[in-house]
Amino acid sequence: MNKIKNVLLLYPQIPKTFWSMHYLNKLTGFKSSYPPLGLMTIAPMLPKSWNKRLIDTNTERLKSSDLAWADLVLISAMNVQEKSVHDLVKICKDYHLTTVAGGPLFTHEYDKFPSIDYFVCNEAEITLPEFLNDFQQGQARRIYQTDTFADLSKTPLPDYDLIDLRKYNYSVIQFSRGCPYQCDFCDVTTLFGRVPRTKASAQIIAELNQIMAHFVSNLILFADDNLIGNKTILKNDLLPALVQWRSENRFAPGFATQVSINLAVDDELMHLMQEAGFRHIFVGIETTQEESLRHCNKKQNLRRDLLANVRKLHANGFYVTGGFIIGFDTDSESVFKEMPRFINESGVVIATINLLKAPPGTELFRRMKHEGRLLESLDFDENKSNFRTIIPKNTLIRGYKQVLGKVYTSRYVFKRANRFLADYQFPHVKESIRYKFKPKDALTILRTILFIGIFNKYRSNFWRLLLQHRKSTVGKLSIVYLLAVLNYQFQKMYERFEKQLREDPYFMVHPPNAYQGVY
Ligand code: SF4
Repeated sequence: MNKIKNVLLLYPQIPKTFWSMHYLNKLTGFKSSYPPLGLMTIAPMLPKSWNKRLIDTNTERLKSSDLAWADLVLISAMNVQEKSVHDLVKICKDYHLTTVAGGPLFTHEYDKFPSIDYFVCNEAEITLPEFLNDFQQGQARRIYQTDTFADLSKTPLPDYDLIDLRKYNYSVIQFSRGCPYQCDFCDVTTLFGRVPRTKASAQIIAELNQIMAHFVSNLILFADDNLIGNKTILKNDLLPALVQWRSENRFAPGFATQVSINLAVDDELMHLMQEAGFRHIFVGIETTQEESLRHCNKKQNLRRDLLANVRKLHANGFYVTGGFIIGFDTDSESVFKEMPRFINESGVVIATINLLKAPPGTELFRRMKHEGRLLESLDFDENKSNFRTIIPKNTLIRGYKQVLGKVYTSRYVFKRANRFLADYQFPHVKESIRYKFKPKDALTILRTILFIGIFNKYRSNFWRLLLQHRKSTVGKLSIVYLLAVLNYQFQKMYERFEKQLREDPYFMVHPPNAYQGVY
């Protein structure tokens, strides 16, 4: 029989990638981008008699007193947090603590962590109760897995009392899991299936109320794999409920989420999403090369005018963040010219460019393994791959640098911002997004003026953009400001990339003798 009193929930560090928005957070004074929703969601599933303490190592230091207090440690991680997991597990072992791990990283690759005691893989709603039952009886197996998917209508409300929401740039919520598509580089369907499962709108409203009671963030992210995966439920349940909720919460922040590009051809859905408060959308555009879209099974992006679709989304009041990938087997060298041209003409100010990688659990991983092309390890750095590409490495490095230079450098970001501002139309909705100015915002503006408007080598672009739009409405000026601040993030990311290249010209692809195919 295991007697546990105190359980420590640990969230490992997220390295400096686009999604961590490290540089932007420094400017805006937040410690991290978003709170650890997975740990907050499993906390209410733990025995009521256990005392819980959550340490997000992105926002606070793990202290020896935390480790001395704990009887048991629970770690949740995504693949990108692997390095930090190894460091944390070592520290826990030094304190002779029992460790339990769950989340996508361990579901795919638990065998990489021999010193972790227990693994609760797949969806915790299914595997965690079974583990807890066995563990309390002193009869737990090392690994808990399932091939069934959880009923999200039974998922408990995340425990927001475990974190300080004021430390995060935005709040996070999840309505659905799963995606009907099967892009070969994506592990979503392996993890969550092809039939999107959803919570009831009442659960989401309760979560939103809980967030508002803790702290009114600038933005709430719906961390769904593809929010529009089940349009019927969205149109008939969630969106009407959100519209109603927004009318009762006049200072509710805007929403962000991930969607597939086919949103652009559904006017009713676009309008409902706008009424509900969705403004920021991430869209996986991936590539401008038709053959590569076909090759990676990104069917939903085929046979459509991607450029026109993106501009239509802008014209309907969405800010599109575009995901782009280079390094498909079928990519021709023309992609290095086409991709920046597309991005700049589309006005997608926030474009994330990645070298294609094959994460474990994907069809691409299976194929690369079969073809003996895998590298030794997967590093989730945007600029690195984990397999031997067909494009010769010198061509790839030269071309990739060319793409980044024409997308991330200040001159292009500001040009793109103007393109976006020319296309963008404020949505005609009953409830616009209202913002209450906080004292903290004055500091952010001061930092922006100092770091971007005075001490930055590209300061003239910043002032030019502001001057060009000085007669705009307050709403449009706030977008101009946001774009200027985002430019800072891109500038820093590009400088980091250049530094990586200087230190190791082949850092993006390992040298040939590293192709050992250890998997
Ligand atoms: S549409 Fe997005 S979430 Fe769905 S399989 Fe493709 S990449 Fe994954």
